[in-house]
Amino acid sequence: MTKLGRELASKGINVISLSVGEPDFNTPDNVKDAAKKALDENYTRYSPVPGYPELRQAIVNKLKNENGLEYEPSQIVVSTGAKQSLSNVILTLINPGDEVIIPTPYWVSYSEMVVLAEGKSVFIDTDIDSDFKITPEQLEAAITPRTKLFMFSSPCNPTGSVYSKDELAALVKVFEKYPNIFILSDEIYEHINFVDKHESIAQFESVRERVIIVNGFSKAFAMTGWRLGYIAANKEIAAANDKLQGQTTSGTCSIAQRAGITAYHDGLESVNEMKEAFLRRRQLVYDLLNDIPGVKTNLPEGAFYFFPEISSFFGKKDANGNVIKDSSDLALYLLNEGHVATVGGDSFGNNNYIRLSYAASDEALKEALRRIKEALGKLSS
Ligand code: PMP
Repeated sequence: MTKLGRELASKGINVISLSVGEPDFNTPDNVKDAAKKALDENYTRYSPVPGYPELRQAIVNKLKNENGLEYEPSQIVVSTGAKQSLSNVILTLINPGDEVIIPTPYWVSYSEMVVLAEGKSVFIDTDIDSDFKITPEQLEAAITPRTKLFMFSSPCNPTGSVYSKDELAALVKVFEKYPNIFILSDEIYEHINFVDKHESIAQFESVRERVIIVNGFSKAFAMTGWRLGYIAANKEIAAANDKLQGQTTSGTCSIAQRAGITAYHDGLESVNEMKEAFLRRRQLVYDLLNDIPGVKTNLPEGAFYFFPEISSFFGKKDANGNVIKDSSDLALYLLNEGHVATVGGDSFGNNNYIRLSYAASDEALKEALRRIKEALGKLSS
């Protein structure tokens, strides 16, 4: 959708993009300054495969101070983004035929990474009425003797849903019965969280050894292009990730790593400014979505996405008589008719929805929602 949107824009059409998964802010100045300094200090050579010791220590400190979690630097492996970390974990843990439980909707790459490892994804469907969260009963029903891994994101892309401590505790009770299942906790949206405190499933001692936290700098510090992520895991898993990465990408960009140290030492102020803007926009989009007949939405508690239900438009026709059959058709229609780029929910494993990113200016969001309302109003039965 982003690509199609760009093509339309290159023809001079004013397209508003709500399809991309990145903050619309610039990287904070102190982080950029740290990168410039790193260049001047000649941090330009190969770095250790799992990252500079100072960065791994900064991550250890962050996990202790912000999350109350004790790790040693040897349990941290820095990578070229949370995406590589996810891929490293799946490639090192999953053998052909192993099952990976993934609640839907999920971030698009999860299931494809499982395919690369020749594993099998087992999906647990959720919907808007359960705020897109699974129950312990659903989890237990999906477990088989072949289950190796459970993977999820909280705050979630694409729904913005956030599991509370109590909800995580209820899932942990199930995992306690199945000691061979690992838990991959994607916490990349940790800092864009509108509930009081981020809750990691790693805080529960009974499963702690089996939890692999994936996190990074892309979303919190608007550093998507810098490619900097990491895992925190038990030593064996960390060592396996280090070994794999040593034969693929090696240590990530030296300059980005130096900038990451500064981000974790004193970057939180800019995170809070960004969060305030997202909070304001969330309310704006929520009110505007609620004003569109046929669209049903919840109020996401984190990240910067809405995942409204749009299935009431399936079976309707556009002005040329084309029938909207699924969420991709609807996203394409909104692009061509309303010049707003969104993503069909089928890309995330739930066809009845579309994903809207609100990482855009207030003006762009108001105009985009006006166009969406107008375009949907033109569809006929
Ligand atoms: N996990 C989720 C849920 C994401 O949305 C993204 C980015 N869209 C990533 C991981 C990857 O982040 P990174 O840029 O650090 O690779």
